[in-house]
Amino acid sequence: MKLITTIEEMQQAALSLKREGKSIAFVPTMGFLHEGHASLLREGRKRGDILVLSIFVNPIQFGQNEDLDRYPRNMEGDCCIADECGVDIVFTPNAPGMYPAGFQTSISVRDLSLPLCGASRPGHFDGVATVVAKLFNIVMPDVALFGRKDYQQLAVLRRMATDLNLPVQLVGMPIVREKDGLAMSSRNAYLSPAERQSALCLSGAIRKVRDLYATGTLEVADLERSARELIEAETAANIDYLEFRDGTTLESVQTAGNNTLMALAVKIGTTRLIDNTILGEEL
Ligand code: AMP
Repeated sequence: MKLITTIEEMQQAALSLKREGKSIAFVPTMGFLHEGHASLLREGRKRGDILVLSIFVNPIQFGQNEDLDRYPRNMEGDCCIADECGVDIVFTPNAPGMYPAGFQTSISVRDLSLPLCGASRPGHFDGVATVVAKLFNIVMPDVALFGRKDYQQLAVLRRMATDLNLPVQLVGMPIVREKDGLAMSSRNAYLSPAERQSALCLSGAIRKVRDLYATGTLEVADLERSARELIEAETAANIDYLEFRDGTTLESVQTAGNNTLMALAVKIGTTRLIDNTILGEEL
């Protein structure tokens, strides 16, 4: 496994791999890897001759009062997981390299970036789209893998790739959960033991809504009420949003169907967690 820290070296490596006719699979992350990231890497291993993992805590996707400075990091642990998953190249650029003085270009995927996380984190998806476009230009992947844990992010990036004719195939991977249902996330490391227990209300609300939907409750108002009740019973939990939207356009829906996205963001203490499900989809 090779560690590359500069943009120039990564771009040169990608160019010579392309010249050799090698395909590149790419998994962009912010590090502090867990089994969710590993699932993307394992799938990437199957889909490309060369597997590239990037680790970059992207400052421009964090708001002013967010957790950029304390975002968890563990380079050594990340390299162990990367190695186990068969990564060929770990690319770890730094912020001044990615955003040198004078940097002023931004990619904005207009409508898909507005609701849900975009409403509570203004500018977040511009930061995501911009960094992923840059990483695509540096790593030159044939296929890139993303988790559906960040459902809206994947929708935004798919739109960007289509709109800008980017020559890369985007693959969405299922949400990996802990045994008790909590969606894996680097931010789970912030939770105290009591908060870790409270955090089960996100997956609990999803389970409840999926059960109601499976037994014929289709009115979004009814589904939403049940989910909110379950979460509001948890004193440490504060709902940021809990919404039902079309799984493709992200437009609001009043009646649930098989492509309905239930998406939620909940603060557990000071930690903001997200989760989602597509109602008609088998788990
Ligand atoms: P992050 O390091 O949080 O930016 O995540 C990097 C990639 O891993 C993104 O495509 C995420 O959607 C994906 N990911 C994070 N958590 C999970 C999870 N629990 N299951 C599947 N994919 C995940």
